Amino acid sequence: MTDLQLKNYEDIKLTLDNFGEDYNYNLIKKAYELCVNAHEGQKRISGEDYYYHPFNVAKIVISLGMDSESIAASLLHDVVEDTDISIEDIKSMFGDEVALLVDGVTKIGRLNFSSKEQQQAESLRKMLIAMGKDIRVIIIKLADRLHNMRTIDAMRPQKQRDVSVETLEVYAPIAHRLGIRGVKEELEDLAIKHLDPVGYNEIEELLKHRKNHRVQILSEIKERIEERLRSEMPNTTLSFQGRVKSIHGIYRKMYAQGKTFDEIYDIYAIRIITDTVADCYNILGLMHDMFRPIPNRFKDYISTPKPNMYQSLHTTVISRAGIPFEIQIRTFEMHHTAEFGIAAHWKYKEGITENDKRMEKRLEWVHELIDTQDASTDASDIIRTIKVDLSEEDVFAVTPKGDVINLPVGATVVDFAFAIHTAVGISMVGAKVDGKIVPLNHEVKTGEVIEILTTNSANKGPSRDWLNIAVTSSAKAKIRSWFKKEKRSENIVTGKSEYEKELRRNNINFTETELNEYTEELAKKYRFTNSEEFYAAIGYGGILLSKILPRIKEDYNKRTADTKPPTPVATVGYKTKSSEGVIVEGIDNCLIKLSKCCNPLPGDEIIGFITRGHGVSIHKRDCNNVPIDISLDDEPDRWINAYWNSNKTETFTSTLKAVAIDRDGILIEVMNALNNMRVAIHSISARQTKDGNCVIIMTISAESVEHLHSIIARVEKVPKVFNVERINQ
Ligand code: MN
Repeated sequence: MTDLQLKNYEDIKLTLDNFGEDYNYNLIKKAYELCVNAHEGQKRISGEDYYYHPFNVAKIVISLGMDSESIAASLLHDVVEDTDISIEDIKSMFGDEVALLVDGVTKIGRLNFSSKEQQQAESLRKMLIAMGKDIRVIIIKLADRLHNMRTIDAMRPQKQRDVSVETLEVYAPIAHRLGIRGVKEELEDLAIKHLDPVGYNEIEELLKHRKNHRVQILSEIKERIEERLRSEMPNTTLSFQGRVKSIHGIYRKMYAQGKTFDEIYDIYAIRIITDTVADCYNILGLMHDMFRPIPNRFKDYISTPKPNMYQSLHTTVISRAGIPFEIQIRTFEMHHTAEFGIAAHWKYKEGITENDKRMEKRLEWVHELIDTQDASTDASDIIRTIKVDLSEEDVFAVTPKGDVINLPVGATVVDFAFAIHTAVGISMVGAKVDGKIVPLNHEVKTGEVIEILTTNSANKGPSRDWLNIAVTSSAKAKIRSWFKKEKRSENIVTGKSEYEKELRRNNINFTETELNEYTEELAKKYRFTNSEEFYAAIGYGGILLSKILPRIKEDYNKRTADTKPPTPVATVGYKTKSSEGVIVEGIDNCLIKLSKCCNPLPGDEIIGFITRGHGVSIHKRDCNNVPIDISLDDEPDRWINAYWNSNKTETFTSTLKAVAIDRDGILIEVMNALNNMRVAIHSISARQTKDGNCVIIMTISAESVEHLHSIIARVEKVPKVFNVERINQ
């Protein structure tokens, strides 16, 4: 995909002609005209005419080989949201199909990012639902995001980072899951470039620097391979390519997996494309004859395709000069699917027909995710599950019958059992690996022969713990749905008692009528039909109490505040500023400390407590140490109203060093933590240390020392981070 911008219909028509499909030119031209008229006079942040954006979204959609309706819809994708044109207008002008696509894209919302996980979950959920209805909606949405990422430089730095994080967390995984490689890699590279410019440039330099040497060696090897194959297989169509791994791909391996540049075997790969599957295996044999293969690096994605339909043979071999490199072997059709994924479908066939079972099967996971995540509020869970499923590292294990099961790295024997068949998973009582009994949390490794021990007893079934042992979304979904169906009444009882216990533990004391009324209301908010369904969901693990508790507390505080307003006293009637960014009512120039028990952050609802001799300590209003009803406290006079000083804009930059036990994705999680606090990041980078830890250096803006301390405290809460300190003064 080039950056060349389309500026008018002639450009679009030329692109279409070059693509050479049988397009509905009338429809596309009409959409073009409406797009130009509707957006007339509107400008993008960059200052250029707005309609260049839909033109170029359309161009990406064309390059993916999509149909005329998708192209028209991409030209119209911002019209309903940004202009006077309604979806009814679109329907009467372009018909139901285009209107449905435009409506789908509009509903997902544009740049609907938010630092709040709740909202991210919501936009992800919307996308999954849209995907379940018509997958073309998501392809247009991905193209929209790609063009926004290409033109992201015009945005404010904080917004660039917000959009980049969301791109990495939501859009790239979806593009990957749909197998649209080009879009996925470009989204990731653009996001990393804006999140960690230092790390990005470093890899770019490394690539430039090593390129000459390695590329030369590889092109010699490629020539030798070509020569050998052409002589051994003279009547076979063959195509040869050299491939360089994406910057984000290298970044992940270097910073997340702690490999050095030279330890990454697949930075350069040679790709051989041919006609038939039989040819692929013949070529593989010849390659292993020419070069020494590295054990355990051979992967057969032809017999076991990846969940995103990717098919290919991968093997890593060592050249005579001792340089390891990867060889990928596939058919032309597989190659097309590898590049375009789900979008490839429109190239060969016209749209989806109802009986297209293969397509249905490919989208099964979307429905599974919607079914199980519908009621879930936890974005980080959904995203984590998608990430596990999408992990580019796989393991292959075999059943005693010799069936190969392909699972993401980290998958357990529970995942293995459910991958064989739901019935096998449900009746599982244990597992043997290479003949020995293993615990259920045994991590599957490539080459293991795994036998699942099952029982016919009707009393057995999955245990709730399995939800923590399974890592793939498919196994989790199957376990949840078993609990949902088989144990409904039990779920309601356990769910209700867990819920009530949790309320008591948090000093939330409703009367019974209040509780029933409130729970019914809460259930509706989470889209359950009644409180029974809500309890059942808690029972089977579809909804996590720990995730909804903050909301319940907030609601409870609001309710009690309505009826019994807290009565902080000492309201002398004037406000006074303090140096810590907090205003306490009626007290001037006092020492202010943010309490350690609840670490209040700007934006939290807060209250002050006049300590004996240590100034005023500031707590969150819902801190456990603050009485719910102040007037009932022993010394109500010592509680005092406090606010964040929102006018305070002075910031200072500070450099922090965090040490973490190295693990996949740590940098992204640290960036997320900062982002959630709206902390501006000036630079951030991660390095591997010799002892296997990961050191993250970040320069950020803080508003005060207290703010800085709360930033440090928040980063320290990121799992596996064990030390954070300030390294400049
Ligand atoms: Mn747009």
